[in-house]
Amino acid sequence: MIVAAVDIGGTKISAGLVTQEGRLLDRRVMPTQADQGLDRAVERIVQALDQMSQTTESRPVGIGVSCTGPVDPEKGVLGPNQFLPGWEGPGLLAGLSGATGLSAVLENDASAAALAEGHWGSGRGCHSFLYVTVSTGIGGGQLLDGALYTGAGGAHPEIGHHVIDPHGPICQCGARGCWESLAAGPALARRYLELLPQGKPPLEPVDARTVFHLAKSGDEIARQAVSEMGFYLGLGLANLISIFVPDRIALGGGVMRAWPQLETAVWPVIQANCRLVPAHRTQIVLAQLEPDTCLLGAAQTWLQRQSIQGE
Ligand SMILES: [Zn+2]
Repeated sequence: MIVAAVDIGGTKISAGLVTQEGRLLDRRVMPTQADQGLDRAVERIVQALDQMSQTTESRPVGIGVSCTGPVDPEKGVLGPNQFLPGWEGPGLLAGLSGATGLSAVLENDASAAALAEGHWGSGRGCHSFLYVTVSTGIGGGQLLDGALYTGAGGAHPEIGHHVIDPHGPICQCGARGCWESLAAGPALARRYLELLPQGKPPLEPVDARTVFHLAKSGDEIARQAVSEMGFYLGLGLANLISIFVPDRIALGGGVMRAWPQLETAVWPVIQANCRLVPAHRTQIVLAQLEPDTCLLGAAQTWLQRQSIQGE
């Protein structure tokens, strides 16, 4: 069985064909170009899926879509989204279904990624599994015995926005001191710039990658910023361990490529803060399916919804 998978982000859309075993047969990546309208995007996605069907000589049985939030997975409806202006509503799924004659289902991209890692990657065999992605923000998803945990009305919990420091920086969500505002990529760059001596601005624009690179080459200020970020990353992970005591936490996202530079700061925080739970039982590992985690998750979403319907 082959499932068509579509992952929609603010800057790019990926479309692929995925086997029931989680093998990606083919993939196309295109710019989102949200301003050209939803109908045009649906046309391009359907065209890409058609091309891949021909080159792989396979016929998908359904379409799974993962999308940057907010979305309503149960109703298959996109919420208001600054990256996808005018796309709000049921039009995306209706358009894909209408053009292909296939059933289409929708999931939040971080939840979809958790489903993919849980079934085909780093979370296989876990009773309780948490996937955490750290890039320009922090997101994640939680599985219990392979099924996605959802909140009221199917709501997607936002682990990146639990508050770490009520006096911390304003988060892009509008609250103060969220985990994301202290431990995601932009926080590292911001902290590095704060620590620079006054009157010594950097010669080039600074992002998280630059700071990790500087820290590796021995820059003391960059090392300090990385160490502080590791502390905050550790605090958030410690909170998740205290609340859920998962068997395994998988870390994904671009920032986690620098995990070897962060983990020495993370472990002592977990040890110091998780005093009443068996934190040693929680394994922390790196995600295995990148860079296609969300795309594979879209396919896994469709497979999950089918199996639920079939029960
Ligand atoms: Zn926030």
